[in-house]
Amino acid sequence: MEKIIIFDTTLRDGEQAPGAAMSSSQKLEIAFQLEKLGVDVIEAGFPIASPDDFKAVEMVARSIKKSSVCGLARCIKADIEAAAKSVKKAKSPRLHVFLATSKIHMRYKFRKVEDEILDLAVKSTRLARRLCPEIEFSPEDATRTERDFLYRIIESVINEGASTINIPDTVGYSYPQEVHSLITDIMDNVPNINRAVISIHCHDDLGMATANSLSAVLAGARQVHCTINGIGERAGNASLEEVVMSIKTRRDVFKDFSTGINTKNIFNISRLVSSFTGFVVPPNKAVVGKNAFRHESGIHQDAILKKRITYEIMDPKDVGLGGTRLVLGKHSGRHALDRRLKGLGFRLTQSRVNEVFRSFKKLADKKKEVFDDDLIALVEDQTREKKMAYQLLSVKVTTGTDTVPQAAVKIKYKKKTFEAKSTGDGPVDACYKAVDKITSLSGRLLDYRIEAVTSGKDAMGEASIKVSIKNKVISGRGSSTDIIEASVLAYLNAVNKYAL
Ligand code: MN
Repeated sequence: MEKIIIFDTTLRDGEQAPGAAMSSSQKLEIAFQLEKLGVDVIEAGFPIASPDDFKAVEMVARSIKKSSVCGLARCIKADIEAAAKSVKKAKSPRLHVFLATSKIHMRYKFRKVEDEILDLAVKSTRLARRLCPEIEFSPEDATRTERDFLYRIIESVINEGASTINIPDTVGYSYPQEVHSLITDIMDNVPNINRAVISIHCHDDLGMATANSLSAVLAGARQVHCTINGIGERAGNASLEEVVMSIKTRRDVFKDFSTGINTKNIFNISRLVSSFTGFVVPPNKAVVGKNAFRHESGIHQDAILKKRITYEIMDPKDVGLGGTRLVLGKHSGRHALDRRLKGLGFRLTQSRVNEVFRSFKKLADKKKEVFDDDLIALVEDQTREKKMAYQLLSVKVTTGTDTVPQAAVKIKYKKKTFEAKSTGDGPVDACYKAVDKITSLSGRLLDYRIEAVTSGKDAMGEASIKVSIKNKVISGRGSSTDIIEASVLAYLNAVNKYAL
C-alpha cells in the first residue's frame, strides 16, 4: 500500500479566494482541525504577504505537532527568508518555493528569458535549502510550460535539494488524460526524478480539479494539493473531501493507495471552514453538500431502506454525518454540554465552555430542542463575537404591509453604547442603515442568504452575507432564533472584519 500525501492549502490558496480572509485565531483553529483530520502537510500561508499572514503561519508552526507546516515564497530573497523564519518552530517545517515557467508568464509577468528563470530557480532553491530541511518547488503554470524547459528546471532544483516537485495546473486548463501524460513524461524525462516526490495542484476552472488530481496519482504523483470544500482562487482548488473519498470509495481503481485521513472528521471541518470564510457549501456539492446523502424520489428511498448500496456509494457515517440527533434541552447540565462539544470536535477552554453554556441556556429557553447544528452555530457565533469591536446590544424593528420599515439599533463600541434609528426598504435594510450611522461605514450588500440551521418552527436562522466596504468584499455570518437579529449579527461580523 502506497501512501498518498495530502497537502492541504485551505489556509493559503483557499484564503486567496475573494472574500475568504480569516483571522489568525480562526486559521489556528482550522489548523488544529486539519491536524486532527490527519493531513500530512498544512500550507499555513504566504508569510511575506503581510505581518498578519506571517503571524498566522508562525502560530500554526508553533502549535501543530503531527502535520508538517509549510510557508509559501516567491523566488525572492526576502520572501524565502520570511517564510523560513515563520516555520522555524515547526516540528517538521517545509518551504514551498514557486516560479512561473510558462512562456506566457515568463514573457508577460517577468520579461525574462529561460536561462534567467532557470538561474533564479536554482539560486532560490539553494537559499531555501540552507534555511529549511524540506523544500517543495513549483514551476507555476507547469501545464502550459514548454516540456524541455520544464524537465530542465525540475532536474536543476532537485539537484539543489528540492525533495518535492509540485506540478500546478495554475489556470485549471488541463483535462485528465493530459495531466496523466504530463506526469508520465516528467517521470520518463527527468533523470533524477526518483529523488523527489511528484505533487499535483489543480484548479477547478473547468470543473476537473478532482479528476485531474486523481489522474496524476494514477500516473505516479504521490502528493495532492487540496482544500476543504474546494475553496481557492477563482473556481477553487481540488477539494480534499472529493479526492480522499474517491480514493477510499474506488478501492478497485486505487487498490494500491491509501491516505492518512480520518474521514469521519470531514463534515465538521467542512462546516468550520464554511463558517469562518462565509463560503456557503452548495447543497449539491459532492461529499459535504446538504443533499449529498438525501434521497427524494420514492423509488430511491424504498431501495435505500432495503439495501443502502443500491443508491448510496458512500456511508454518510464515514464522513462524519450521523444525522441530526436531539442532544440537549433546557435541563441539560454543563457536563452534558461539555461532552457533546468535545464529540463535535471543539477544543474549548473551561471558561469558553462556561460562556457557551450561558448562551446555550438562553437558547434552550427560546427553543425546546437543541440539536448538534444549533450548538455548532452557537459556538461559531461566540468565536466570531469574541473579536468584535462592535457588539450588538439590541435591535428593534417595526414593519408591516402598510408601514415604512423602521429600525432602532443599540451597539457597544469600546465600552460605550451607541444608538441609531433609520428607515429602509425593508426591516433588514433599515437595521443596516442604522448600523452604518453608528460605524460611519457604508456597506453595499452584494449577497444575502438566510437559512434554517435545523428544522422546526423554532429553528435558528443563519444569515450569510457578502458586503462591499470601500471596495473590499467581506463576508459575514450570524445566527439567532430571530432572523432580523441574525441578519444584523452577520452585518456586524463583516463590519468587524473590516475594522480589524
Ligand atoms: Mn493555486
